[in-house]
Amino acid sequence: SRKFFVGGNWKMNGDKKSLGELIQTLNAGKVDPNVEVVCGAPSIYLDFARSKLDPKFGVAAQNCYKVPKGAFTGEISPAMIKDCGVNWVILGHSERRHVFGESDELIGQKTAHALESGLGVIACIGEKLDEREGGITEKVVFSQTKFIADNVKDWSKVVLAYEPVWAIGTGKTASPQQGVAEESVSCSVTGGTCKELASQKDVDGFLVGGASLKPEFIEIINAKA
Ligand code: 13P
Repeated sequence: SRKFFVGGNWKMNGDKKSLGELIQTLNAGKVDPNVEVVCGAPSIYLDFARSKLDPKFGVAAQNCYKVPKGAFTGEISPAMIKDCGVNWVILGHSERRHVFGESDELIGQKTAHALESGLGVIACIGEKLDEREGGITEKVVFSQTKFIADNVKDWSKVVLAYEPVWAIGTGKTASPQQGVAEESVSCSVTGGTCKELASQKDVDGFLVGGASLKPEFIEIINAKA
């Protein structure tokens, strides 16, 4: 069984000043050694984050492309991510799926290439509100999971994050009964809800958005302690 996993997804937030301050707070915080912590930084700050964050914290890119190099303006490759000393990538986040139109197939291809390149993958799945209300949650999440799973040989390098889109950014939480995946991570976690959530059976980690930019991220990291 894996360590309790706490990912922070900074999304497109912060600058060197504010992220530098956050990193100082994290580095100074007391962190449960039984927890694996990974911070998802904007690609332009990967080098910055990796060089400033204490090595006990992992760093993740928030996206990558499906091939090593070439004429793909604006994209970054797993090789570049690794070249910055960064060992993780978040793939299939709902914002990549729904703001940038990434398909299940593309996310599967990215997963394959990232894993072949030696990155760990935080693979995100989750249904939208209309899909939940339309009764197709399982169909959607099953399909998303299948496209990822078909490209995974070694699950020790993969974290599957279940993030129902309707809960993201709300501070609302999917109840455990609303969870559909076994090895999944809950969402919209805050300092106030993290302890109760962490104690639930089948919750073996979090992928945190908004609260990962605040000092309360330390409390979330230590939710199980
Ligand atoms: P919030 O924690 O802000 O709800 O975001 C969740 C998320 O999208 C993490 O990837």
